[in-house]
Amino acid sequence: MKQLLLTVDYELFFGDDAGTVENCMIRPVKRLMEILEVYGGKMTVFWDILHYYRLKELEGEVADLRFDRELIEKQIHTLLARGHDVQMHIHPHWLDARWENKKWRFTYNRFSLHRLWDEGDADSIETIMGCITQSRQLMEEVCRAAQPDYKVRAFRAGGYRVEPFDRLAESLRVNGIKVDASAAFGMKSYEPQYPFDFSRLPTYLHYRFDSSVLRHSDEGYFWEFPKESVKVPGYIRFFFYFLQNFVYVGKGSYGDGKRLHFTKREQSGHWWSQIGSRYYRLTPEGMDPIRWRYLVRKARPLAQVVLHSKNMSPFTVDMLQASMKKKEVGFMSLLQRIRQLPVYDDLKT
Ligand SMILES: [Zn+2]
Repeated sequence: MKQLLLTVDYELFFGDDAGTVENCMIRPVKRLMEILEVYGGKMTVFWDILHYYRLKELEGEVADLRFDRELIEKQIHTLLARGHDVQMHIHPHWLDARWENKKWRFTYNRFSLHRLWDEGDADSIETIMGCITQSRQLMEEVCRAAQPDYKVRAFRAGGYRVEPFDRLAESLRVNGIKVDASAAFGMKSYEPQYPFDFSRLPTYLHYRFDSSVLRHSDEGYFWEFPKESVKVPGYIRFFFYFLQNFVYVGKGSYGDGKRLHFTKREQSGHWWSQIGSRYYRLTPEGMDPIRWRYLVRKARPLAQVVLHSKNMSPFTVDMLQASMKKKEVGFMSLLQRIRQLPVYDDLKT
């Protein structure tokens, strides 16, 4: 059986149609908890904390938002009570989100943390330092109701936008966060405003670094746990294309929103990259059992699987259940893995 780390981004969509908390977050994560429990699996939920922050800010005026906030809080408590792990995920565009006619309205001037101020004022959420500090405080306040010794240990930047890391480093360090899980080898985006390029990321399962996740450093203060990427050769990709378009078509999803237009440009690139080999993230979302089994077989033991609750479908759940039942995979949380490593003595508690 191949043991893998399971990390789940817990968030709404970011486009014109964000979807509902019930269908994008609560229902899929509840199902995931149920099947993991049967096979003794654990996961790390990367909680989009500024969504929750915004709900709290606006709930005095809008009863629906208070209801959403309570649903999330209850599920976070359940996750922790059942031994799953909750860590920090930040999408700063929530700071500008407006609630109009029962829908979220977004602007993307602050899609990346790097668009916040550099002043280092912990009291202002408009600064990088303030945003990370207040997000951590809010998470610890909520999580400690279920787990009194809870601390935020790991960070995942929204939409892979963790570089340039040196602008985030001090704020993470001050908040006791030394693990990052934002990067993925081979992934890149040609989006003109928020590009990123991980085609030269170190290929270790996890490694130390200081000012950039792109440069491994033996004595680095921070640790990167990248999402696993699997190289798929051109002829297999042709077969994948066939499966996706003619065999396993349109499996739907729990999530009832729509994907944000510009995140679609990730890893697209020039026409010539459409043929030949390419990196796939190790994820069951949007997959069928044949492709999923192929990726699992090629992945390294203890590699990190990523999943977005909003993109899950009943089909995804059945597929994961089948691979756990056949003992092809077992899942553990990022924190469980961190605690197995001797170098992490300071993260044991
Ligand atoms: Zn996200």
